[in-house]
Amino acid sequence: MKKEKCLSEADKVLILSCSEGSNVGQLAKETAKRLSSQGIGEIYCLAGIGGHIDGFVESTHEVRKVVVVDGCPVHCGKKTLEQADCPITIHVVVTDFGIRKISDFHLDDNDIMKVENAFKEKMKK
Ligand code: SF4
Repeated sequence: MKKEKCLSEADKVLILSCSEGSNVGQLAKETAKRLSSQGIGEIYCLAGIGGHIDGFVESTHEVRKVVVVDGCPVHCGKKTLEQADCPITIHVVVTDFGIRKISDFHLDDNDIMKVENAFKEKMKK
């Protein structure tokens, strides 16, 4: 039977972000979307990993890098991958950049740039 897969191919960088119930979760998602639109990586479905869907989990083992962007130290994205035994190459946490977690979803462009630039620095290493 054909296994379910998202759109990513095996040689890609996958970018997964946590969910978005706060400003920092929204920032994680926005960062993932921007990086994906810039061709730095390809946004991937965390829900597919959380659901332990075979093709989704397997893809994380086949790609060059798996990047996780979490909003806060609860690390929902990282823990979701760990529970499915998926590798993680880079882990970025939005609150590590001095951005406070609040329930206001209006995102500051400076905060988005801060997370995006920090991510790019980590990608260079
Ligand atoms: S890591 Fe933090 S911001 Fe992201 S989904 Fe979990 S609790 Fe929400």
